[in-house]
Amino acid sequence: MKARIISIANQKGGVGKTTTAINLGAALAMRGKRVLIVDLDPQGNASTGLGVERDRRVQSVYDLLLGDVSAAKLARETAVDGLFIIPSTMDLSSADGELMASSRRVMHLRNALHHRDTPYDYVLIDCPPSLNLLTINAFVASSGILVPLQAEFFALEGLSQLLLTVREVRSTANADLRLEGIVLTMFDRRNNLCLQVEDEARETLGDLVFETKIPRNVRLSEAPSHAMPVLNYDPSSRGAVAYRSLASEVLARHEQELVANV
Ligand code: ADP
Ligand code: MG
Repeated sequence: MKARIISIANQKGGVGKTTTAINLGAALAMRGKRVLIVDLDPQGNASTGLGVERDRRVQSVYDLLLGDVSAAKLARETAVDGLFIIPSTMDLSSADGELMASSRRVMHLRNALHHRDTPYDYVLIDCPPSLNLLTINAFVASSGILVPLQAEFFALEGLSQLLLTVREVRSTANADLRLEGIVLTMFDRRNNLCLQVEDEARETLGDLVFETKIPRNVRLSEAPSHAMPVLNYDPSSRGAVAYRSLASEVLARHEQELVANV
């Protein structure tokens, strides 16, 4: 079986990409899926948040992109059964320039991840906060893009830039790429601006916007310093409930698709 590869992307920093990768990944794993997170951000927040210490990061996603090391060899176990991560290191920050020098510069990650015999059901790529060559590699490798959208002013303007890039990738290197969905993050229902952004997003993007909204929840921001997903750190927190619900929506969408394709 081929893994379903999903980029978690938004060129804005601090909108909840890494939090979504870790916790959606954990929620899918807890539903019995085998999940690999690919930490494609040189900051390495997903690696730290899942407790992969620096000394367990001798080989990293850099070796997946530019070396010849296989995903299976690079994947590290996490505290969650069925959840694995390929960590990132700071040398990833030089990868952009090195990829630029390659004639198949946008294909590296795709070539590394597209194996028929992959043991994973889901691969979630935690993208850097930019539309650089690393992110393009992620889009070319993916079947879908999941966009965390922080409900704030200008959120939708940033989204149109991202959608342009998606269209470009679709017309050049990956015709199958589609939007998996948009998830509103750090949502505060007492905040009028949040409600306005939600209305506008649902009006213009319709079903692409997940029903589930991720609330602003302090437990979500505490969990990484305990090196675990919020689903382990505080399973009954509002953040944990929300990410479990997002996982259900993602799974339901995929099951419907499978039925539609029979
Ligand atoms: P990105 O990967 O897009 O840069 P992060 O997931 O790292 O964003 O989130 C940025 C910061 O906000 C982190 O400190 C994270 O712990 C915190 N955070 C993310 N989502 C939430 C949330 N729903 N509630 C509270 N804090 C959050
Ligand atoms: Mg991040």
